[in-house]
Amino acid sequence: MSWTLAITNQKGGVGKTTTAVNLAAALRDRDQRVLLVDMDPQGNATVSSGVDKPAVETSISEVLLDELSVDRALIRSEPAGYDLLPSTIDLAGTEFQLVTRIGREMKLRRALVPVMARYDFILIDCPPALNTLTINALVAANDVLIPVQCEYFALEGLSALLDTIEQVRLSLQPSLGIAGVLRTLYDSRNLLAQQVSDQLLAHFGAQVFSTVIPRNVRLAEAPSYGLPALFYDRQSSGAQAYDELARELIERARTRLAAGPKPASFR
Ligand code: ADP
Ligand code: MG
Repeated sequence: MSWTLAITNQKGGVGKTTTAVNLAAALRDRDQRVLLVDMDPQGNATVSSGVDKPAVETSISEVLLDELSVDRALIRSEPAGYDLLPSTIDLAGTEFQLVTRIGREMKLRRALVPVMARYDFILIDCPPALNTLTINALVAANDVLIPVQCEYFALEGLSALLDTIEQVRLSLQPSLGIAGVLRTLYDSRNLLAQQVSDQLLAHFGAQVFSTVIPRNVRLAEAPSYGLPALFYDRQSSGAQAYDELARELIERARTRLAAGPKPASFR
């Protein structure tokens, strides 16, 4: 059974794409079958996966517009070995085209059905907005993974995100849950970061991953080489943290998938 996760937070720069790419690589490195779906028109996950953007001929855009099957749009991330549904800037226009389509929120979910069984994990990198693309990701997902940068204002946007998750749950995907809250860009010397981390633990409890992603320059450098950090500097604290997150997620997957579609612990 596969576990589909939407990596989402409408705030930009919190580490969604970094998490999507490095987690995909770390899960693959642990012999999991992984598909990474780039749902951001900026295509950062596509480039960070070692794909030359101008060379992308078919992308998630055509899939969402029912012009192409997922199979025909898939490419392999060569350095890391996971499959990728790439995006290009066309996706920005696609979002507007979708507005007039019937079932516009279900497009990704429907498209993924035929390939789902081939993967253990499907990770969806979301854009920094609560728009139709993000709703598509939430509807296609079993659960959401929420990266949070431990800084001032970090918690402010979370209630809007939780409201959106609740809306999607009520109308489109009743079993949508929270796979986990991930502390990213963490600097343990920073007192404010510790305070925000404490607030997250107080509010989300066991839903917060034990793994904390440190601020690490290797994570910021790796995309310019088209590599996940694991293949750029395996020993770096960033690469090691995402490997640890992969381990924790595989553990959670066992509980999640065994518990069936609506486990209370994921609320
Ligand atoms: P988002 O997808 O949420 O907008 P990104 O993953 O693109 O966020 O991260 C924003 C910026 O911060 C990028 O330049 C990225 O390389 C950098 N970054 C993300 N996580 C880390 C980290 N743990 N340590 C250092 N830099 C990071
Ligand atoms: Mg991003």
